Amino acid sequence: MEATKQLNEIRQQVSECKKCKLHLTRNRSVPGEGPAESKVMFIGEGPGFHENEQGKPFVGQAGKFLDELLGYAGLHRETVYITNVVKCRPPGNRDPELEELAACRPYLDTQMGIIDPPVIVTLGRFSMSHFILDGKISVIHGKPVAIKGKLIVPMYHPAAALHQPALKSVLIEDFKKLPGIIERGLMEIKEKTVPYEADSTMPENKGDEHQQDAQQLSLF
Ligand code: URA
Ligand code: SF4
Repeated sequence: MEATKQLNEIRQQVSECKKCKLHLTRNRSVPGEGPAESKVMFIGEGPGFHENEQGKPFVGQAGKFLDELLGYAGLHRETVYITNVVKCRPPGNRDPELEELAACRPYLDTQMGIIDPPVIVTLGRFSMSHFILDGKISVIHGKPVAIKGKLIVPMYHPAAALHQPALKSVLIEDFKKLPGIIERGLMEIKEKTVPYEADSTMPENKGDEHQQDAQQLSLF
């Protein structure tokens, strides 16, 4: 089946999904959006108030800032795929619970399988820990890791900068560097000059197939 059709199928499944309790309080689920051919995928945490109203990712204040950040990276929202680790809004924007993350995970994994983007940018710690077990965002933001031939770039969540103004310039600087990070990172992956480094310490993610292949890129 064609990739766009497969993504629409996921959209349909997510709109009807009752696999975790977030379905009880959602208005609209937010599967994610963007072209099936996207080379870069941005993964946030979960829908907030406005996303829950509109069924689209990052359309509130954090979304406005994300648009600005994409501009610093020379990217446009229409050319990238944007989604979240949970597809329904946690009430009051609380953190998603482990159970909810686990229930929703197959949708994200399927989306990644269909789109197969060479570059994944994680926004915030819940998205980062989908890939990187022992990462501390304050240390590894803007520092890419190669996992199974993909470049994973951890970034702070845009909403964090709305609460902590000091992070705004950190995010802007990281996004300005994104084109260079992508270019050099993909070259390193292609030339396979990345040294192997597997390290996993978060017990709930032990054995996750993505994480066993984490390779720190040598240039960063
Ligand atoms: N924050 C997120 O993590 N995702 C959204 O879609 C909106 C805000
Ligand atoms: Fe289903 Fe994910 Fe929504 Fe939970 S958050 S109901 S698993 S789509």
